[in-house]
Amino acid sequence: MTYKYVFIDLDDTLWDFHSNARSLLTEIYEQRYLAQFFENFEQYFQLYSKRNLELWELYSKRLVTKEFLNLERFLYPFVEVGVDNVSLAAEISVEFLETISTKTILIPHAKELLDYLFPKYPLTLVSNGFIDVQLRKMKSAGIEHYFSHLVFSQSANALKPDKAIYEYALQLNNAVAEEVLMIGDSFHADVIGAQNAGIDQVYFNPSGRSFEKQTPPSFTIKGLEELFFIL
Ligand SMILES: [Mg+2]
Repeated sequence: MTYKYVFIDLDDTLWDFHSNARSLLTEIYEQRYLAQFFENFEQYFQLYSKRNLELWELYSKRLVTKEFLNLERFLYPFVEVGVDNVSLAAEISVEFLETISTKTILIPHAKELLDYLFPKYPLTLVSNGFIDVQLRKMKSAGIEHYFSHLVFSQSANALKPDKAIYEYALQLNNAVAEEVLMIGDSFHADVIGAQNAGIDQVYFNPSGRSFEKQTPPSFTIKGLEELFFIL
């Protein structure tokens, strides 16, 4: 099949959420003297990362609200070490959301990939992230001009893996599912989501996480540079 359109996720597929969050939380950890509560930064960051991933999965199933996610991911590390300080978690949450979008680390080869795809395919960003934050991230990293369409859950009124968000993106492009390839790092949101809409998928799985073998992705890659051979 020759694809005519490419859909792509933002966080941890193009924009390196994990590294950018790590960099910002290192600063917050020092400025707010969090060393008084944790053994070291690693302990704090591991607790945050684990809970953040769980919360995004719950959010995509509409089991928690955006407000709950924003506070809980910063409250959880404190609760885990026996510190009861909701107001500190709330302050960190506000600071994090205001500042994270100024960070500019991209996934290796993301820029080369966009330069390569841009003249060949109309590109559509499909993201569950919050619109204002996602737009600022793309601007900071200088990648917003590559996209023909930006599809956010808030505008499509559906969250990945709901096929409605993919159908909304198809409609914007005037495309049919068979003409599209979706690229993303979340097996649940990106691979299963695109499958729900009949769209082929590339599972970007750099850390080799295991996944449900009954519904294998069309392609699995460990690095974005492998896409030069697929597209
Ligand atoms: Mg992602």
